[in-house]
Amino acid sequence: MVIVLFGKPGAGKGTQAPRLAAALGVPILATGEALRAAIREGTPMGLAAKAAMDRGELVADDVILGIVKDTLESAPFAQGAILDGVVRTVPQAEGLQRVLADIDRKLGAVLVFDIADEEIIGRVGGRLVCDTCSHPYSGKQPGDACEQPACAGTLMRRKDDEPEAVRTRLQQYEQKTAPVLEWYRTHGARIATIDAVGTVDEVTNRAKHALGL
Ligand code: AMP
Repeated sequence: MVIVLFGKPGAGKGTQAPRLAAALGVPILATGEALRAAIREGTPMGLAAKAAMDRGELVADDVILGIVKDTLESAPFAQGAILDGVVRTVPQAEGLQRVLADIDRKLGAVLVFDIADEEIIGRVGGRLVCDTCSHPYSGKQPGDACEQPACAGTLMRRKDDEPEAVRTRLQQYEQKTAPVLEWYRTHGARIATIDAVGTVDEVTNRAKHALGL
């Protein structure tokens, strides 16, 4: 089963993805993570994506669809996937449908994390991530140690979590990502919307309920 997690940056997709992946027994494809890993490794794809990412702009659809295709065709994803951070444009939605058709897989649901912009700005402003495993934290200081098991990373602010980049990301969401939901509606996808404001456990429970888990 392939599930698309959909919502504004900072809506909680990255926090919920591992919980839903564990519940469904499928791995996660997080395109933002894949791009950040490519930047860390200094690959040509990472170098090409970095400037747009730092400004909070979207990376080109063909780059994203290349990641999606390679990942979903790989053996660990044979049983399905949680897609975190993709789909973000209508061409990506169309491209994902083509990839799924090629590998004879279906889109299970689009899970929409519903949240107001004001809530996002407060949330992302206080967000830190581990520089090694990318686990998100709130209520911590830059430089604190990551608390994930077997991770020796340090907490830092993502460059695109700075206020200017967050404003750009919210604009990009309205212009390019919000229309994707209409596309899915007209193409008959199962769309489940949940309230993304609450404790992490509350949101997990809503998400599981919405997915029938
Ligand atoms: P995220 O970690 O999902 O917030 O993504 C961080 C950044 O990576 C975004 O602001 C974009 O610059 C880029 N990115 C990640 N996924 C996509 C995507 N599906 N389409 C375009 N850009 C993306």
